[in-house]
Amino acid sequence: MEKFDVIVVGCGPAGVAACKVLKDSGISFCAIDRSSFPREKLCGGGLTHRSVSMLNKLGLSLSGIQTRSCREAVVFARGVKKDVTLENPVVMVERVDFDSSNFSQVIDADHFRCESVTGVDGNILATDKGNYEFRYLIFADGVNGFSRKYNPGRERFFCVEFNSDRISEKLVVDFSAVEGGYGWLFPKASHTNIGLGGRKGKTREYKKKLCDFALKHGFEIDESKIRGYHIPLFSKKIYRKSVIDGKIVLTGDAAGLTDACSGEGIYYALASGYYAGKAVAKAIKEGADVESTYLGYTRRLCKSLSKRLLVNRMLYSGSQRFYIRLALGNRYLLRYVMRVFS
Ligand SMILES: Cc1cc2nc3c(=O)[nH]c(=O)nc-3n(C[C@H](O)[C@H](O)[C@H](O)COP(=O)(O)OP(=O)(O)OC[C@H]3O[C@@H](n4cnc5c(N)ncnc54)[C@H](O)[C@@H]3O)c2cc1C
Repeated sequence: MEKFDVIVVGCGPAGVAACKVLKDSGISFCAIDRSSFPREKLCGGGLTHRSVSMLNKLGLSLSGIQTRSCREAVVFARGVKKDVTLENPVVMVERVDFDSSNFSQVIDADHFRCESVTGVDGNILATDKGNYEFRYLIFADGVNGFSRKYNPGRERFFCVEFNSDRISEKLVVDFSAVEGGYGWLFPKASHTNIGLGGRKGKTREYKKKLCDFALKHGFEIDESKIRGYHIPLFSKKIYRKSVIDGKIVLTGDAAGLTDACSGEGIYYALASGYYAGKAVAKAIKEGADVESTYLGYTRRLCKSLSKRLLVNRMLYSGSQRFYIRLALGNRYLLRYVMRVFS
């Protein structure tokens, strides 16, 4: 049986960030993903300035992948429309290219196994192809990975999306597209990603709402090509349990680290993966306690995500129209709300 100091499950943003730290620290590690790269991941592909700064901190480059920068946005709420210049541009990427580029910058064939994780027993990780022994295990396997068994029944947003060949001039955020969420038009280099997500509703209902939302903004879409996926809703209680038995660390979507207002998860995945790698490296080199180190490193992330839960109530409550009108009429408040998206 192969033995590693650390096994990282999942090679999206969280997993790659963790691997980068372990690699730079000279620690023996293995990355496991059920998909080989490039692989598809349903996502709007909007990188906020937080994500871009985190990529710089990790030494991950965006060069070689198609990007587009958006600073001009239009915000819609019930009966209200406002043009907004965002404080920071949103960098638009294709997730398939973004993840593949990050993967190839960090993980080589010797450190990678394309296998699906099926179980954990003590210090043994089981996959569909065999068993591995680990000292520490980092789960970065997303919202629907094996690690969801540690947080059964957690709340999630449901999102649907479609790529249109037509290119929208501006980034659009429409709070009236769906109850408890919003619709978006994300202009990419060669198409527009059109989507919506919220907390309530069924797949068929959301597909219909997406068609209506797209039509409202002048886009026709083929309902049969709409795809759906989940985003976890941040919970402080779940976050506090993201280290299990002092040796298993949950990161990114697996730890529920996403923004409750915008659904942004890439930054939180990169940052938590980075901190998980640091915490485990410290445990291996200095005998530090992983749980207190990881929760200490990520305290600020948790604080900012908890604040977003409050803004979530404001944006998605029954009094949305009142709050949005208030925000749109006040440039400081508006800047605060739109900071969530940039
Ligand atoms: C429709 C939609 C739009 C979004 N738009 C944005 C956006 O514009 N900006 C933004 O910041 N965030 C966005 N998000 C959120 C963002 O996509 C996620 O938060 C982010 O991908 C989380 O990264 P991660 O590394 O935790 O997990 P993931 O990127 O999901 O990676 C998990 C990896 O684990 C692997 N895996 C899963 N199970 C197993 C297993 N059993 N064994 C082995 N490997 C496994 C998977 O193959 C995958 O490669 C969006 C999400 C959705 C659904």
